Amino acid sequence: MRDRSDAEIIAGIATAATGLAVSGVELPMVGGQRMFGLAPRDHEISETFTVTLTLGWRSVEAKVVPGKFAGDLVGLMGEVGDDGRTLFRSVMSALRAGGADVTLNVNGSVFDDAEAAWSIPWRTMELRLRRGQIDVSEGDGQADVGALAQMAANSVALILVLLPVENVRIDDGVAGFPEGAVEQVTVNRYERDRRNRAAAIAIHGTICVCCDIPMGDVYGVAAAGMIQIHHLTPVSKIGPGYVVNPETDLAPLCPNCHCVAHRRDPPYGLEEIRRMLRSRHAGPELDQDIAARTAV
Ligand SMILES: [Zn+2]
Ligand SMILES: [Zn+2]
Repeated sequence: MRDRSDAEIIAGIATAATGLAVSGVELPMVGGQRMFGLAPRDHEISETFTVTLTLGWRSVEAKVVPGKFAGDLVGLMGEVGDDGRTLFRSVMSALRAGGADVTLNVNGSVFDDAEAAWSIPWRTMELRLRRGQIDVSEGDGQADVGALAQMAANSVALILVLLPVENVRIDDGVAGFPEGAVEQVTVNRYERDRRNRAAAIAIHGTICVCCDIPMGDVYGVAAAGMIQIHHLTPVSKIGPGYVVNPETDLAPLCPNCHCVAHRRDPPYGLEEIRRMLRSRHAGPELDQDIAARTAV
C-alpha cells in the first residue's frame, strides 16, 4: 500500500474531527510556501466551499470561501438558527482564546462580532483563520501536517455549524439522505449531534479530559485523534428547544473513560472519574474509599 500523501492525511483528520467528508490536494507552492486545498467530497465545489491552507513561516492560515454558485448556501448561513449561532460563537471565541486570529467577512465587511453579521442578509462571506508563532516550517514534517490538519478541522467545524442540514453529507455510513419524512427527522437530529461534536472538538481538542491520554499514544496511528463526545447535560434532559453550548455542555472522553461515565445513571461526573484514576495509583487508603462509595 502506498503511503498517504500529506494532503490525504490532513483531509482524513479533518473528516474524522468534523464528520464532514472532505478530500484534499496539495496545490502548487506560492512564494515558497506549501499550500493545500480542501473541499467536501461528493459535491460540486462551485456549490459548496473550499478551504485553502497555507503553511507559512511559523504560522498556518486557512481561507474558507463558498463556491461560485453557492449563493443560496451563503444566504442560508446568514439565516442560521440559534443553535448554529451558539456553536459558531463558542468555537470562534475558543479559537481566539487559543491564540488564533479569526476573521469573518460578510458582504465585503469584517465583523468582529458575528452577531452583528446576522442582522443583515448575507450575499458573500469569507472566513480566515491564522495561527502565528507556532513550531512549524522548521523541518519537522509531522508537526507541519499536524498543525495544518488542526487548522483544517477548525475551519471546517466553523463552516459546518452554519450549514443547512440538506447540504451536509455525513461520513459515517450514512450515504445521502433518506426520502421519508420520519427518517429525515432522525437524520437531522444525528447531524445536529455531528455539528455539536465538530464544535466540541474544535474547542476542547481530541485528548480525553479525564485521563489526558491521547489514544494515538497508546495504539499508534490507527487510533490517532480518536475521541468520543460526552454530554454533561444528559441527552434525556435536553428538550427540543435546548441550545447546546459546546464549551460547557460537551466534553471529549476516550472510549474507556466514556464507558465508565455511563456505568451509572445519571453518569459519573468528570471530577469523579479523575478521582478514580488518581486513586488507582494512590494506594490502599483511597482504594478503600472507592470500595466504600461503589458499595452503596
Ligand atoms: Zn480517558
Ligand atoms: Zn456520554
